[in-house]
Amino acid sequence: MSIQQNKVVAMHYKVTDPQGTELDSSFGGDPLVFLYGHGSLIPGLEKALADKAPGDTFNATIAAADAYGERHDQLIQSVPRSMFESMDVEVGMRFRAAGPDGQEHSVIIVEVGEEEVVVDGNHPLSGIDLTFDVEVLQVRDATDDEIAHGHAHGMDGKADH
Ligand code: ZN
Repeated sequence: MSIQQNKVVAMHYKVTDPQGTELDSSFGGDPLVFLYGHGSLIPGLEKALADKAPGDTFNATIAAADAYGERHDQLIQSVPRSMFESMDVEVGMRFRAAGPDGQEHSVIIVEVGEEEVVVDGNHPLSGIDLTFDVEVLQVRDATDDEIAHGHAHGMDGKADH
């Protein structure tokens, strides 16, 4: 069975940045199980997986635009330090904040000044081309529940959520 819309896929993957640094890997651990065609993966990786079958291994380099997106300077903002009240703010801290579009985003503190704190709402992997090494393990039809929920219920389809 090959990978198409509404198939549940189990796969191992390793992802590296352009410098060859390994960012994440499932090899040696639990495989990633997901419902194909519902946006669970970055768009470029879903495209690369189309029509692959169990036992297939491949390598795909996915441009930032089809991975976690380009970096946007407007997502880097200075906010008054007083907004953090008595919080002990430090570079590298992450928290949720409302962005310019009113949606909540994960942001990271990139600079702490006397009066202002600079936060970056870009995804940590935005602007980076990613290379995936993939091994497809299993492919099966999704259940009606999985399609209705928009996610996989484990490789056996029995996880209840
Ligand atoms: Zn569910």
